[in-house]
Amino acid sequence: MTWSIARCAGCAVIALLLLPAPAPAAFGDRPLREGMAGEDVRVLQVLLTKAGFRLTVDGRFGPRTRRAVGRWESDRERRVDGWMSRDDSLALRREFRGPIDGHAPAREVEAPEGSVRLVRLGDASLAAGESHQALAPGGHAFPIEGRHDLGRSESNRFGGGRGHQGQDMFAGCGTPVRAAQGGTVRFAGYHAAAGNFLVIRGAGSGEDYVYMHLRDAAELAAGDKVTTAERIGAVGSTGRASGCHLHFELWSAPGWYRGGSAYDPRPKLRGWDRWT
Ligand SMILES: [Zn+2]
Repeated sequence: MTWSIARCAGCAVIALLLLPAPAPAAFGDRPLREGMAGEDVRVLQVLLTKAGFRLTVDGRFGPRTRRAVGRWESDRERRVDGWMSRDDSLALRREFRGPIDGHAPAREVEAPEGSVRLVRLGDASLAAGESHQALAPGGHAFPIEGRHDLGRSESNRFGGGRGHQGQDMFAGCGTPVRAAQGGTVRFAGYHAAAGNFLVIRGAGSGEDYVYMHLRDAAELAAGDKVTTAERIGAVGSTGRASGCHLHFELWSAPGWYRGGSAYDPRPKLRGWDRWT
């Protein structure tokens, strides 16, 4: 067979015609299901990974990808069928568009580190011994376990004149970050603006607790359970951040980019800080 193909003058052309057409390049151009492969499958896998659903990024839609799609569909309360309709793809892509942490890029560029008087607090070892174990009433813990502030300027606050959706609190790089309330991880991923970030649905409040600019990629994945005050990461400056700080958001039910809305977390943070 190989021999006859090698000797057949027209066979090269026929072989080319028999090759499958190249997959559409753009994610969302076609429904994606098990057995498919291509650049768009790879994009799907990258987005699912960013959303905190662990799988291998290899451009092949195998059983692991099908299971990850199913988990994503279930978490987002979509029809669970294990394949991506165009609608599914659009919805997934939308999760990673726009200013996730509300730091308007232009403003960040206009405000270099010096102009907002960022002062580093020193390394985390200085904060050692300042950790607190007691929990505030209502089942909350202050999200930074160590020396910190509650923001240094108006622009660190919710709103902040730029649609800032959370509170920026400065602490030494590496200071432990802990769950303000235990619950279930909804997202664990990376975003250009947010850096390494986590979204945890509080088991008691039903609200979403959002932690951004974490130093390291989370060891947690969507669906994992955490308890109140459990260490979930460390203060960092990943993403679009000037200086090590925790950007913390509170979202009313039904939560982060799922119909809830962000509200000023500062009053609650002050309360938790007093107790913990
Ligand atoms: Zn922020």
